[in-house]
Amino acid sequence: MEQKEQLYEGKAKKVFATDDPELLIVAYKDDATAFNGLKKGTIVGKGVINNKMSNRLMAMLEKNGIPTHYVRELSDRETLVKKVSIVPLEVIVRNISAGSFAKHYGVEEGIVFDQPTVEYSYKNDALGDPLLNTSHALALKLATAEEIETIRTYALRVDELLKAFWKTCGVTLVDFKLEFGRLSDGTIVLADEISPDTCRLWDAATGEKLDKDRFRRDLGGVEEAYAEIMHRLEEHL
Ligand code: ADP
Ligand code: UDP
Repeated sequence: MEQKEQLYEGKAKKVFATDDPELLIVAYKDDATAFNGLKKGTIVGKGVINNKMSNRLMAMLEKNGIPTHYVRELSDRETLVKKVSIVPLEVIVRNISAGSFAKHYGVEEGIVFDQPTVEYSYKNDALGDPLLNTSHALALKLATAEEIETIRTYALRVDELLKAFWKTCGVTLVDFKLEFGRLSDGTIVLADEISPDTCRLWDAATGEKLDKDRFRRDLGGVEEAYAEIMHRLEEHL
């Protein structure tokens, strides 16, 4: 697969064209950002970990009936994916209160919900990714009602599968963000990444944070946490 021109450089990844118009190469960087890009830094080795973790988790999801963009890992940091037109919604699933949920609603972190919550943000950096509901997404023509229904169904199934998987690793899946896209024929597939950058993962025994909150909140041991969560995954997948 021949890598061609760079199409995009984001905060965490670069995206390249290939000689196949239906395929892209994503390259994971060690750059870390938080608070809509206000905080910047480097997490050494993150790109390798996020690439491998996302690929293994997507392969597991695919085996369990979730269509994804994942095609093949090309190297430590590079992966071949199906090109999609991204649905500009950040789909956030929560099992336990944390982060912006705790802040918005004035509750402590760590409240276990009876059922997962699903929420959407408009993926728009200039606007600061504002929260929106299904009616807003329809009014803005970000997706059709049918697409939103498909996305919601997939997101809840992904939650079940990831929760069960991380449990085998002694890890609690607190919350996570997904992105979906449309293939050229309109099929909705899971895209982007699933990694400690996009999930909150707590050690089930100690509650220790094994995700990007260590960077966001200056907790220290950031690289160690990424290495530890990757090690847990490799033992179980
Ligand atoms: P951001 O754009 O938020 O800074 P990244 O640095 O992760 O994020 O950049 C990767 C970009 O590629 C994101 O905008 C993401 O929506 C997009 N993307 C992810 N998977 C695909 C795909 N399969 N096809 C097209 N675009 C994708
Ligand atoms: N998240 C993400 N990208 C974003 C916003 C959130 O990957 O732009 C993930 C985040 O890592 C967490 C979940 O989505 O696992 C919920 O994040 P929250 O809304 O609590 O926002 P935050 O605390 O990151 O501001």
